[in-house]
Amino acid sequence: MKRSSRKQLQNRRAIWMSIIVLTGMVWSLYKLSASLTLASASLPLTELAVSPGKNHAAPQNGTSRYKILIDPGHGGKDPGAAGASGKQEKAYTLALSKKVFDQLRQDPVFEVVMTRTDDTFVELEGRAQIANELDADAFISIHGNTYKDPDVSGTETFYYADDSFVLAQKVHEQLVKSTGFKDRGVKKEGWKVLRDSKHPAVFLEVGYLTNRNNETDMLSEAHQIRTAQAIANGIKNYFARF
Ligand SMILES: [Zn+2]
Repeated sequence: MKRSSRKQLQNRRAIWMSIIVLTGMVWSLYKLSASLTLASASLPLTELAVSPGKNHAAPQNGTSRYKILIDPGHGGKDPGAAGASGKQEKAYTLALSKKVFDQLRQDPVFEVVMTRTDDTFVELEGRAQIANELDADAFISIHGNTYKDPDVSGTETFYYADDSFVLAQKVHEQLVKSTGFKDRGVKKEGWKVLRDSKHPAVFLEVGYLTNRNNETDMLSEAHQIRTAQAIANGIKNYFARF
């Protein structure tokens, strides 16, 4: 073989090697981009698979609304606790509940109903029954706490059914931040109003009316507005998951 043709062969071999290497590189880049596209396309699917979760929180009757029942504790012949100042719990729960109602009503996704809008007595049995008849997506009972020791203070949230726990947690989280009171936690309790409710139900003890400091805050208009916003935000955070 001539020296020049050997050189030509080497050149040709080098060209072929380059073509093979380049093709390999292009192919692996193509594979990489394809797998990246697949990964990004599969993300929303994964989210869809986990997010809707519980049926009870789905909007009712094909509308885009969640029904929220706000329950101002006590009323009429049942005054509830007597605060450190002698003021009655039933007046506090009504004042705060009306503010929660006003807050939630501003968001068209919510249809908001109250168990009472004035100083009337509603049977304990009647309250959960209203929630069940309404097919409410959430039942929020609002109270002020009482204890014989006036030093006891703080915010606590109660629930009974397991599917009410997250609602309790979401509302409590906001409530505690807003009241600035001692965090007494989220607790499971078999109270009738919670037990009888077929849908997520929580019972808020915003603070201790028998504690002078808690009561002074709770009866102030500004504190009530902030507390109402916190309860509404907790409810919104809960429904934002669906
Ligand atoms: Zn009460």
